[in-house]
Amino acid sequence: MTAVLELRGVSKTYRDGAEAVYALREADLTVEPGQMVAVMGPSGSGKSTLLTLAGALETPTGGEVLVAGRPLSSMSRDDRARLRRRVIGYVFQDFNLLPGLTAAENVALPLELDGLPAGKARAAGLDALAQLGLADRASRFPDQLSGGERQRVAIARAVVGERRLVLADEPTGALDSATGESVMRLILTACRAGVGAVVVTHDAQLASWADRIVFIRDGSIVDRTTPRTGPESLLPEETAR
Ligand code: ADP
Ligand code: MG
Repeated sequence: MTAVLELRGVSKTYRDGAEAVYALREADLTVEPGQMVAVMGPSGSGKSTLLTLAGALETPTGGEVLVAGRPLSSMSRDDRARLRRRVIGYVFQDFNLLPGLTAAENVALPLELDGLPAGKARAAGLDALAQLGLADRASRFPDQLSGGERQRVAIARAVVGERRLVLADEPTGALDSATGESVMRLILTACRAGVGAVVVTHDAQLASWADRIVFIRDGSIVDRTTPRTGPESLLPEETAR
């Protein structure tokens, strides 16, 4: 089985005047299809750097990133752009929905940018919205949606089409705990359908939903645990087995 994401000794150094800032140090990480990996760590530890490198949004200063088995460094700029449009879905904390487009148009946008005819892109967008329980919100603009609904639209946009890797940077950070849980549930649903996901979160309870938790400190991945608890740990005691 080809991993959807593989980081091999990946480093990222930024120049701050004469000083070098090590945002990420020789990070190794493998995400298999269907897996959700949670990333936890203090502010400034390199979590967003990890995601931007995994998402081909930045180039590492050392090591190699492979997406769906293909090393990014051996791909042309056009190939990387295609990968970002087709294979990788991004969810950011501030949603990044375009205010002038409806929910359905926001979700269909990556497919349209990828050259899919408008009708087909719209159908796929509506399908993704329906899967996230938002069929009746399709024609609304972002400012007519609640925070939780906006985040669900952002997730629909990240999984629309045939995405294989979803990268989410604190997708639950601005949400109340019930909405945060539903966001995690939606990403997990995508994983159960075969997508690999990397989710940055500060919430240990939400992280425990993941198949694996990775901790980052000062740019280094310092620990990996296999949580003993799963989603059932969030159920009331009497229904948990
Ligand atoms: P986190 O997401 O865990 O809060 P980041 O990955 O954003 O951390 O940042 C890791 C480190 O790299 C921090 O010290 C941050 O200041 C630094 N850094 C991130 N992006 C840049 C940049 N574009 N230029 C310089 N330093 C950066
Ligand atoms: Mg960050």
